[in-house]
Amino acid sequence: MRKLAAGNWKMNGTRAGLAEVQALLAAQPDPACEMLLCPPATLIAAMAALTQGSRLQVGAQDCHARASGAHTGDLSAAMLADAGASHVILGHSERRADHGETDAQVRTKAEAAIATGLVAIVCLGETEAERDAGQTLEVIGAQLDGSVPEDATAANLVIAYEPVWAIGTGRTPTIAQIAEVHGFLRARLTARIGAEAAGVRLLYGGSVKPGNAAEIFAVPDVDGALVGGASLKAADFAPIVAAL
Ligand code: PEP
Repeated sequence: MRKLAAGNWKMNGTRAGLAEVQALLAAQPDPACEMLLCPPATLIAAMAALTQGSRLQVGAQDCHARASGAHTGDLSAAMLADAGASHVILGHSERRADHGETDAQVRTKAEAAIATGLVAIVCLGETEAERDAGQTLEVIGAQLDGSVPEDATAANLVIAYEPVWAIGTGRTPTIAQIAEVHGFLRARLTARIGAEAAGVRLLYGGSVKPGNAAEIFAVPDVDGALVGGASLKAADFAPIVAAL
């Protein structure tokens, strides 16, 4: 399986930030893995034009479940694909928290993305209170069951495990905790989509940095990373890609 290094720029970046994309392309990190950047929707077309013919793919951070219609401010999967996106992040904890997205909504968005030909990157993760209460696997299992379309395949689904308490905090789970969750996710995904689960990339996300990437990528069933803050600068993202 080819590993995937995915960056999530969140609500950061204007056209001036595309200089970082040029720097990343110039750095030519490890050609063995797939590389993806998910900028704000305003930059998808420009980034896609800049990266055309390169190994760097461009993705979006959300999509609407419907193909078109009266949904002011929203973007459909087809619009994102038309702008040059190949992937879309869905159910990020910030969208679950800020916009009240439920597992069922994430699933319908994933179905729309997949039907349009995009790869759906479905995010899951427990809060600190849930981990402290010993509910991590229960919470993640329920999110997976509720958010992942039953007919998803290794080609059109990626799962990102992102503990909410590790996002943007500089804190990461222990290697044993990451291994436990990723092993659990592989088994739970197999129960949901069958043998296809073996080929689905399971990304870890939450305070991945150049200094901890190699250790995290060595964990069984970690097939790449979803990187927030450290994906904004080529000087940080290139060594993370190279560590895969
Ligand atoms: C994220 O939000 O997807 C993320 C992993 O953020 P960070 O790397 O900044 O913790």
